[in-house]
Amino acid sequence: MSTAARVLGRAVPEAFAAQLAAAFPRRDGLSWLMARWEPGEDWAPVERWVIWEITPWHALPTADAAYLRMTLEGPNPRDTGHYCGAGRCACALKRNRWTGGRSEAVDYFRQWQVAQEMRTAGTPGFPRVIWIVQGDTGGHPPVMDPISKQLAQAAGLPHEFPSPGDGPYADLDQRVIEGLLHKDRLRDAEGRLRDVSSAELAAEDRDRAQHAADRVLDFILERMSGSVDEAAWLIRKHDSAFIAAPHGTPLEWTDPDTFRQSFRDDCALIAS
Ligand SMILES: [Zn+2]
Repeated sequence: MSTAARVLGRAVPEAFAAQLAAAFPRRDGLSWLMARWEPGEDWAPVERWVIWEITPWHALPTADAAYLRMTLEGPNPRDTGHYCGAGRCACALKRNRWTGGRSEAVDYFRQWQVAQEMRTAGTPGFPRVIWIVQGDTGGHPPVMDPISKQLAQAAGLPHEFPSPGDGPYADLDQRVIEGLLHKDRLRDAEGRLRDVSSAELAAEDRDRAQHAADRVLDFILERMSGSVDEAAWLIRKHDSAFIAAPHGTPLEWTDPDTFRQSFRDDCALIAS
């Protein structure tokens, strides 16, 4: 356990809140974004800024919206249970996580807390983290969606974003806004890749899918910058004889151009 005192809360700089609101104007009844300090837990410190998306309950496009609301606006999930870890309890087998509560998921507790804050503030809604601010390009989404994961894997890139707290600390600034806008602009590309099926693709659709895949990969590379050793990655990429293709069969690595072409061919095979 870290001995340094964890920074539990920090106020969002007003200038950043204004920048964020200007880039993503808040519209009645629709999702909106807010920055919030994430301290993590004393057994798992994070101490990074994160961006939350709040979706008004009535606008939540899921069948279980009512259940989610009941849960997230209900009793504290940590009213019961304990953090099961060394020095914390008498359990013989340490689980290294919250256990015995209504929910055992650590992240869920913060989601519950933010849902409570939103209700108190008169802006009730479903909260979820959409961005972790760390690294030198303003941050990245918390997780890679399955398609991005496949593409990253095929390209020999890391196929997980760093966990919150694992990338270098970064302030809230314009780079965060630019990263969020970049992600926003990818929506078409991601949608296109989701629609791609392995079944006969017209040449035109193939080109579009390839272009979309390139855009998603560019985003991942840029987001990873500063969080991964890019030079080491490039060396590894050029050294590796085989890399996994999106559909799971090894793809022979020869030179970047050949790779790129094979990779593009494979992109057309990615099923949703
Ligand atoms: Zn225990």
